[in-house]
Amino acid sequence: MKYSELVEIYDKISQTTKRLEMTDALVRLFTKCPSELIDKVVYLTQGRVYPEFIQLELGMADKMIIKCIASAAAIKESEVEQQYKSIGDLGTVANIMLSRGKKQATLDIFSSAQKKEPITIERVYGDLERIAKTQGPGSQEEKIRILSDLLRDASPKEAMYIIRTVSGTLRLGIADMTILDALTITFVGTKDARQIIERAYNLSSDLGMVAKLLATQGFQALKDFKPLPGRPIRPMLAERLSNPKEILEKMDGKCAVEYKYDGERVQIHKIEKNSILLFSRRLENITHHYPDVIEFVSKAIPLDSYIIEGEIVAFDPDTGELLPFQELMHRRRKYGVEEAMERYPASVRLFDILYGNGIDFTIEPYPERRDFLSKIVKENERVKLAEQKIVDNPEDLEIFFHEAVSDGCEGVIVKSLSSESIYRAGARGWLWIKYKRDYRSEMIDTVDLVIVGGFMGTGRRAGKIGSLLLAAYDDEEDTFKTVCKCATGFTDEDIKNMYNIFEPYIINHKHARVDSKIVPDLWITPIKVIEIIGAEITLSPIHTCGLNAIKEGAGLAIRFPRFTGRWRDDKGPEDATTVKEIIEMYKQQLKKLREEREVS
Ligand code: ATP
Repeated sequence: MKYSELVEIYDKISQTTKRLEMTDALVRLFTKCPSELIDKVVYLTQGRVYPEFIQLELGMADKMIIKCIASAAAIKESEVEQQYKSIGDLGTVANIMLSRGKKQATLDIFSSAQKKEPITIERVYGDLERIAKTQGPGSQEEKIRILSDLLRDASPKEAMYIIRTVSGTLRLGIADMTILDALTITFVGTKDARQIIERAYNLSSDLGMVAKLLATQGFQALKDFKPLPGRPIRPMLAERLSNPKEILEKMDGKCAVEYKYDGERVQIHKIEKNSILLFSRRLENITHHYPDVIEFVSKAIPLDSYIIEGEIVAFDPDTGELLPFQELMHRRRKYGVEEAMERYPASVRLFDILYGNGIDFTIEPYPERRDFLSKIVKENERVKLAEQKIVDNPEDLEIFFHEAVSDGCEGVIVKSLSSESIYRAGARGWLWIKYKRDYRSEMIDTVDLVIVGGFMGTGRRAGKIGSLLLAAYDDEEDTFKTVCKCATGFTDEDIKNMYNIFEPYIINHKHARVDSKIVPDLWITPIKVIEIIGAEITLSPIHTCGLNAIKEGAGLAIRFPRFTGRWRDDKGPEDATTVKEIIEMYKQQLKKLREEREVS
């Protein structure tokens, strides 16, 4: 299949922000695409070569890409560099430079450029894969050679998209859910099928694989889909409430309560006869950060293959006390892992089992899962089950909550005991409810917001980014809606580094997935998430979060937002606090106010 056909679809998609139009374009693409190619087409459309959890980088720095463009267009590197400085997007630079080069070539009647075969998707994918796999001495030259050759054979427009893919900037704004919609329409048609297809995606985190299974084996293969160790499962998430009585009502009067440990969520995968892999909440492979966790886990869990979830927590080996999240973040480093392991020992608290020796536990209710987990785990000094208790009244829930907080936890996670309490991968729902410490203070709970823009500072912050435009995630529209501007809580160090941190994500227009009435000095691609605490939520005419939800023409804003110091690099933009959650928090706040008024 010609790469130009993919490029045509990319063009259509880039020109719209409407999800339905994107879906239509994708359906046309998938219908035309040969089944053996569909997984590759899906990955390329996501701007990558492999599913997200396989972190094989293409490893081409801007400088190398500039060399390739210069070589393919037969012009000086300095010229490409100059264009890049003024335009800021290597893809566009490639398009311009190659158009110029090609015009030159057409003037030359002996040139072979006109007779060139069109490049295929297979060729582009194959070359990108070769670039990714080329490693070791001399690899830079080899990568440059492969990409230069590919660009030479590509049209200027094709080169633009190839370069954006290679540089990791192909941001077409297509959400995973839109790809799932398109796959459902192309291969099945009915809405119920969508749920089953989405489930397979949630269990595999691999849209390419889901597409391939649908195209080659049909819908039945997805109905029978089971978790597979080695492929991370998209995590089940909790709703939040601030009142034990309400929580118990939601849980039909009885529930399990577990400590909510303040660490890093981990999914532990053991593939038969293989070593253990660890995946983060964002499905990154974090195995190499935690050799100690792996050692103790392998002693504690005797199954041949499994997927088990827990929270990695920093702890003090002398006292056995749990330490805060920040301590654990010292373990998130590329180099000096052994040294960090000595200084910041980690332990793990296990809370769920999703797969064990061929059995899919995601379809079992929570009590069965927890029961099985507690039977197989042999606790040791570093690996323990999450503290848990069954309660049937608000007082006991409150007491357990206080115990959790005094043991260094953030609060508790309340879990449904009902027969429906399966593991709902990738979903935030009421089967789990978090009840956190912060609710009890004057302030609203912390929220995790996505950075979508920046404002230049004044005074001491002149010439630097002084405040940020922050947004919540609208999971229905798959967009980011602004909720506040935040300038406090940042240290001098934060302010100093801010520009460098955001530089790769600065764009010269509002991102297609951002919904904002405010125009900041700099637009930033929604990628980075930070934790914010505020005083209250108010109605706002200028923010788009929850627009019209409470009052016609008004959105919601967080008043006096302050950065807590916690960069949530463990969260992707779609993991940020949702618009629905902010609306719910606003309603809770109103209710509390009314109750307080009634009392007084
Ligand atoms: P937060 O920002 O509050 O950690 P989150 O968006 O990461 O929330 P939620 O589902 O809302 O995820 O809250 C549950 C989180 O709490 C999990 O992602 C996990 O990291 C952590 N956690 C700690 N202890 C437990 C437990 N016993 N059961 C489930 N999750 C737990």
